[in-house]
Amino acid sequence: MNVSDIERVTVLGAGSMGHGITEAVALAGYHVTMRDIEQDLVEEGYGNIEWSVEKLAEKGFVDQDPAEVMGRIDTEVDLETAVQDADLVIEAAPERMSLKRDIFSDLDEFAPEESILASNTSSLSITEIASATNRPEQVIGMHFFNPPVKMDLVEVIYGEETSDETAQAAYTFAETIEKTPIYVRKDINGFVVNSVLGPFVNEAGWMVSEGVATVEEIDAAMVHRQGYPMGPFELSDLTGIDTGYHMRKEAGKEVPPVVEEKVEAEDFGKKTGKGYYDYEDSEGTTYEAGQGEDVDTLRIEARIVNEAAKLIGNDVATPVAIDKGMRLGTGFPKGPCRRADEMGLDTVLDKLNELREEYGKARYDPADYIVDLVEAGNTGEDAGAGFYEYGDSGDRHYSALNYKLSEDGLLKIELDRPERLNALSQDLSDEIVHLLDNTPKDDVRCVMFEGAGDRAFSAGADITGFASIEPSEVEVAPVFQTVNDFPRPTLAKIDGYCLGGGHELALACDFRIATVGSEFAFPEIDLGLIPGGGGTQRVIRMLTDARAKELVLCGNRIDAETAEDWGLINRAVAPDEFDEVVEEFLDDLVYGAPIALEKAKKVMDKGRDQDLSGGLELESQAFGILLSTDDAKEGTSAFLDNRDPEFEGK
Ligand code: NAD
Repeated sequence: MNVSDIERVTVLGAGSMGHGITEAVALAGYHVTMRDIEQDLVEEGYGNIEWSVEKLAEKGFVDQDPAEVMGRIDTEVDLETAVQDADLVIEAAPERMSLKRDIFSDLDEFAPEESILASNTSSLSITEIASATNRPEQVIGMHFFNPPVKMDLVEVIYGEETSDETAQAAYTFAETIEKTPIYVRKDINGFVVNSVLGPFVNEAGWMVSEGVATVEEIDAAMVHRQGYPMGPFELSDLTGIDTGYHMRKEAGKEVPPVVEEKVEAEDFGKKTGKGYYDYEDSEGTTYEAGQGEDVDTLRIEARIVNEAAKLIGNDVATPVAIDKGMRLGTGFPKGPCRRADEMGLDTVLDKLNELREEYGKARYDPADYIVDLVEAGNTGEDAGAGFYEYGDSGDRHYSALNYKLSEDGLLKIELDRPERLNALSQDLSDEIVHLLDNTPKDDVRCVMFEGAGDRAFSAGADITGFASIEPSEVEVAPVFQTVNDFPRPTLAKIDGYCLGGGHELALACDFRIATVGSEFAFPEIDLGLIPGGGGTQRVIRMLTDARAKELVLCGNRIDAETAEDWGLINRAVAPDEFDEVVEEFLDDLVYGAPIALEKAKKVMDKGRDQDLSGGLELESQAFGILLSTDDAKEGTSAFLDNRDPEFEGK
């Protein structure tokens, strides 16, 4: 089965995951049948989808008629009817092996011979589920995250006999429903995300059990110092201490005493009112910034990296897949492989060896893969290679952006941190600068920036750690200047939030085109800061004094139509015209005369800050230079011949 053959999808289960997966599939335009075992259960699931789709439409995240989306969903109770025409079945029934095997055995009987059978299991063996069928090569894991409509990640897991064709079809299908799939090439317990997440919680548990740090200190250190969205104990309380406990026990792993104690006392976390924190008699988490300054965070991160290295060494997943999985699946500030390359793999290895020596436990045994990298001198970014390559030329791996340079010279840069609404982190900023500095200027005619996902261009700067920055360390990020000074026209394609640092990036571009639902603001003032990437200076030059100060001093949010009206952006357009309008602008820029565009941009930017005579002088110098270019000759002769010019930038 190829992805192009997938037309009808059936989802089994209308619970938390089943209804969410059904919704995501229907939103992407597929016909989908949702099956549960009782009529009232499918109806409840259907009602939940209806509510959610209406909310999405109301908030402008979906520009489809909710009734049309709902019209693509059928509900069913009878299994045979539900799956008889399905090209792809996604099972999201309760997490019990015997039940899953029964379901897959029925599916094998009732679903068309060529259809793909996927399970959304979070922890069961795909191989074992597949063995209940006579078509194990067509059985695959498709592990969505909760809630499926919002969470982008899907782990695509091979069972022992899954064919590449099946895996490719499932992977591409996930892409067509606007998810980001990663391959998990072996059916290992915990797949990628939960395997790598294991030590985050587990090592923190050992540290508390040994008395080297408290729960609050560790959570504070991981969140406020290291930028994780939640501390390990806060996370365990949320997901259920018992859930993690059983997963580790089943995998035959040792559990720290502090976890055993909580499970014995049945303090499972939020759901029971008490866990590591008290949610019953007080407000839950009690850690604060500034606690945990002495916590050895490397001890936790070294184990996370080691787990990632084991997966790579065992051909379960690539560094790119692991980093993507951890960022999208858990909100890790950066992927563990990228993080390790920054810290230095030798530092990670030394830590593991030190822990191994001190505790004599196998959990600290360094993965062969990491040992080999360090022995080969590939210790990370400073060495030019680690998990990734860091050469200056095209082989540099970017973890926070995607880019594509087309043959006609359009450089598209996608800010790729959808899990953080594409906030400008240090990595992302550095990567933009690196990419613009290292792409041969002659190959580029125009640059376009856009945000990954469907919610934001970029919702700001990643402010984790701001509070601890010393004033002397503050450097206005070079990214804004690099974009501003780039000798080719630049355009920000804005769909969604364009706030703070993201707003400043858009303002550093020459053009801004936005969907009508987009929003613009500088919220910095509410943090006790001001825009730090040229925002104050650019808006005061672009807008009237009153409007510029409203944005910066009041932190007011404006919609795209107001932004267009004020002259902050070039166009506010309806979502269905968005691509077309952007293409029209890009066509002018890509096929325009490169030297003339460069000169025009430069004399306008530079001339703005001069008096008229200074500006006119700049213009006339540029004009003189342009007269002697081949492009000017080509432009005039094409005009006389009544044909389109072909500029070569000479
Ligand atoms: P849930 O209990 O909310 O929903 C399961 C639904 O399946 C129920 O409505 C149940 O009636 C129905 N069901 C039972 N037998 C069925 C059958 N034979 N055919 C069709 N439907 C049947 O559970 P959930 O949280 O949606 O989890 C479903 C699966 O997704 C599990 O395998 C779970 O491990 C996995 N998962 C859950 C999460 C999560 O955070 N909840 C995340 C990822 C994966």
